[in-house]
Amino acid sequence: MHVIGVDLGATNIKAGVVGESGNVVTRVSLETEADLGPDHVIDRMALSANQARMEADLEWSQVSAVGVGAPGPLNCKQGIVIMAPNLSGWENIHVSEKMQERLQVKTFLENDANAAAFAEYWVGAGTGAACMIQLTLGTGVGGGIVMNGQVWRGPDDCAGELGHVPIRWDGVRCGCGANGCVEAYASATALVRIAQEKLDAGAKSSISDRLRYEPLTAKLVADEAHAGDELALAIYREVGTYLGVAIAGFVNIFNPDKVVISGGMAQAGEILFGPIREEVTARAMAPATDRVEIVPAILADAGVIGAAGCALQRLKEE
Ligand SMILES: [Zn+2]
Repeated sequence: MHVIGVDLGATNIKAGVVGESGNVVTRVSLETEADLGPDHVIDRMALSANQARMEADLEWSQVSAVGVGAPGPLNCKQGIVIMAPNLSGWENIHVSEKMQERLQVKTFLENDANAAAFAEYWVGAGTGAACMIQLTLGTGVGGGIVMNGQVWRGPDDCAGELGHVPIRWDGVRCGCGANGCVEAYASATALVRIAQEKLDAGAKSSISDRLRYEPLTAKLVADEAHAGDELALAIYREVGTYLGVAIAGFVNIFNPDKVVISGGMAQAGEILFGPIREEVTARAMAPATDRVEIVPAILADAGVIGAAGCALQRLKEE
């Protein structure tokens, strides 16, 4: 049995044929061309799915379903993207219906962060967990909850927005409009803001030397931290502490076996994970703190694998 996973991003559409055991058979990537509007983007998604199918040497009759991972908020059961702030004109778009019209194959829609979390649970860093929590650190902070082998979506498909859990009641304004969210303190964007504030305040750092040649990024700060720069280490400690505060809350709520951190920042290693684990141990309750493993994600194609995996699971449930 084969399923095609399509991961809709603001810049690129990724698609792949995925086997029943979560193996990626083929993968393709196309530019989203989001400025040309939803119908054009859906044409591009159908094109990417078709290319992935042809490269796998499959007929459409051999493809059981298509899974689309898209930014939310969305309605999974009806296959509707309610709104996608980074894609122009995306309001109440019937993605599943439009894909089925084009491909004549059953299509299922899933929140992209939930899809990525399901992929790590299925074949990545979260395998075997009775409860897995995932945080994706990028421009924003995505979240996903997998319990007893199922994504926990909530009755309105709004669950798992872990990046918008408040950690400071009087904190910085977040992109969602609320104050003090995890995303406002622990995204790659937030890390850069925190670094810039410290540099503007006159802190001495090897980061300043590099800024003459390149922009300030979370990766640059990680490099300097690994080279021993005190300010860079302090920045990662601060962001790790914020994450640890949030994750301590998740540990007390869910008693997860695994917390998986994905996104570029997860590659920073112990400079990030050390402070996270310290904070979780200090704040959350035993024996939940003894059980939980806080680990980096391991999949490169989590969006595609997860969209396919969620579709496969929903197909079997029908
Ligand atoms: Zn928020």
